[in-house]
Amino acid sequence: MSHPENCIFCKIAAGSIPSRKVYEDEHIFAFHDINPWAPVHFLLIPKAHIASLAQVGPEHEAMLGRMLTLAPRLALEQGCNPYPEGGFRIVSNTGVEGGQEVQHLHLHVMGGARPWLRG
Ligand code: 5GP
Ligand code: ZN
Repeated sequence: MSHPENCIFCKIAAGSIPSRKVYEDEHIFAFHDINPWAPVHFLLIPKAHIASLAQVGPEHEAMLGRMLTLAPRLALEQGCNPYPEGGFRIVSNTGVEGGQEVQHLHLHVMGGARPWLRG
C-alpha cells in the first residue's frame, strides 16, 4: 500500500512531521516515542505503509527480519544495558484488542533500568 495522506507514521518516516530520529535506512525508520513508558523507548517502523502485523506476508520477511536484527543494536546505542543483566522488551500492539492506536506497523523497543517494567 502507498503512504496514506492521513497516516502520522508515514509522515514521520517521510520527515514531514518532526521526530527524534534514532535510525534510518532505505526501508526502515526508528524514532523516540513521544510518550515514553521506559527510560529508553523508541519505535521501529517500515517506511512503506503496512497497517499492522496482521497484514504482513512473505514479501515482508526481509524487512521484518531487518527490524528485529536492528532492534538489539539500536537498543544498546540508545542506552539499554547489555544482555543478560540489562536487555529490552519488544511489543507490537495489533488491532483493537491488541491495543493498537496508530494504524501503521511498529515495534516498540523499551528498556533501561527498572522499575519501569511490570511482569
Ligand atoms: P500503539 O499504536 O502501539 O498503541 O502506540 C502508538 C505509540 O505511538 C504510542 O506509544 C504513542 O506515544 C506514539 N506516538 C503517537 N503519535 C506520535 C507522534 O506524533 N510522535 C511520536 N514520536 N510518537 C507518537
Ligand atoms: Zn503509514
